[in-house]
Amino acid sequence: MPNNHSQPLVPPHGKKFDLDDYAPGYSGGYDRARAEAEIVALRIRLNDLQDVLYADRRFSLLIVLQGIDTAGKDGTIKSVFQQVGPLGCSVSNFGVPTDEELGHDFLWRYHQRTPKKGSVVIFNRSHYEAVLVERVKNLVPKETWQGRYDQINQFEDLLSRSGTVIMKFFLHISKDEQRERLQERIDNPKKNWKFRVGDLDERKLWGDYEDAFEDMIAKCNTASAPWHVVPADRKWYRDVVIAQALIERLEALDLRYPPAEPGIKGLKVE
Ligand code: AMP
Ligand code: MG
Repeated sequence: MPNNHSQPLVPPHGKKFDLDDYAPGYSGGYDRARAEAEIVALRIRLNDLQDVLYADRRFSLLIVLQGIDTAGKDGTIKSVFQQVGPLGCSVSNFGVPTDEELGHDFLWRYHQRTPKKGSVVIFNRSHYEAVLVERVKNLVPKETWQGRYDQINQFEDLLSRSGTVIMKFFLHISKDEQRERLQERIDNPKKNWKFRVGDLDERKLWGDYEDAFEDMIAKCNTASAPWHVVPADRKWYRDVVIAQALIERLEALDLRYPPAEPGIKGLKVE
């Protein structure tokens, strides 16, 4: 069973990965009050870092969010990025591919949406759907999805060598928590729009999705594009974990505002 006090956020590389070793309800010693107080400062810090990332123009940031239905992808975006303005930060949602997208290689639609230097892009679902839903629902043959882990690693390696910092977050919730969140979508009129009857069929595939998530994390957890396994049953802890990880990564870049044009010191605007 999980050791609730030493759960790593990034699983060790090159080891067998088992989701059962990670407790979705883990909260790292936080309670709601502490998390809700801390997130306020973390959001402001994140905005400051995004501002200097934008000015610095040496790097871009790609944030990948994955998780089963109701895991909290939308909620994470709304909460963690609340203070980050739209200048230089956007969200790309990926749903069922169009005919045009299906007519290309599987990475085509994602590559076009990757962030340019100075920008942040959040992938709300991502190229990993090609080894998740497409695998679980048999949308492509086994040989096809099996080859994709290497292709994804190469794609991410290309991006990271081109100045894109990649941070991948798997939002890990329990099956009980999903039941409650799906029920809430049925019972609460403001959430009805998020529910499709087909979500109940997806829920029956829980075990198959777990296998697919485990393989995704084991095979694509690279040094330059690590997977973070985020305990996500408690939304307030989830947000703190993600905000802290992003801040730590951005701080390590040693971002700088570009120097002033020579000779502007002491200039007076008439
Ligand atoms: P949502 O994120 O709730 O808006 O739902 C998007 C839907 O698109 C989900 O049911 C995904 O399973 C589906 N989807 C995303 N990517 C793919 C893909 N590559 N192939 C098939 N379905 C996908
Ligand atoms: Mg959904």
